[in-house]
Amino acid sequence: MDTPVVKTVAGEANQVKIAIDLIEMGARLQLLQEETSLSRERLLRLYKEIKGESPSKGMLPYSTDWFMSWQPNIHSSMFMDIYRFLIKYAGIGGVQALITAYRLYLDQVRGIEDTEPSLSITRAWFLIRFFKAGMMQLAPCKTCGGYFVTHANDLHDNYVCGICHPPARAGKTRAAKQALIAAAQAA
Ligand SMILES: [Zn+2]
Repeated sequence: MDTPVVKTVAGEANQVKIAIDLIEMGARLQLLQEETSLSRERLLRLYKEIKGESPSKGMLPYSTDWFMSWQPNIHSSMFMDIYRFLIKYAGIGGVQALITAYRLYLDQVRGIEDTEPSLSITRAWFLIRFFKAGMMQLAPCKTCGGYFVTHANDLHDNYVCGICHPPARAGKTRAAKQALIAAAQAA
């Protein structure tokens, strides 16, 4: 994702707005530094102003494995479907596509009963990077036809998604499953 060079007051204001959106969504500092042209000092000030505390210094979620476990995979796939749709049809890209797709993802998850968003914006950002780096891709489920996040070099000929074939512990209610399928297909 390119960081635009800012030369105007309006451009600068736009960078601040992007940073605020990302901070409110829970973005980590590294994401803010890479996706805006604001200085680290300004970002730290903004962060403290909005969150009332300094950003976490903990490890960033670099691993691709998280996206493969059951619930994260369904959430990541929902997000990636939305993101790809926006890139293809809504004429937006870069960090704006990330922000819009993440907002739509949150809306969709909150519309499903008993479901909390499990994908953080920082993980969503990494997910896009893993796709761009060719490390991950979407594969079609042969049962429901939905597209799901997978490792790029796995075999996908007979892929069945986590909604169609949930692990025993996850098979809570038929209603929840139907809601997830509907949400994934609507994306
Ligand atoms: Zn499926």
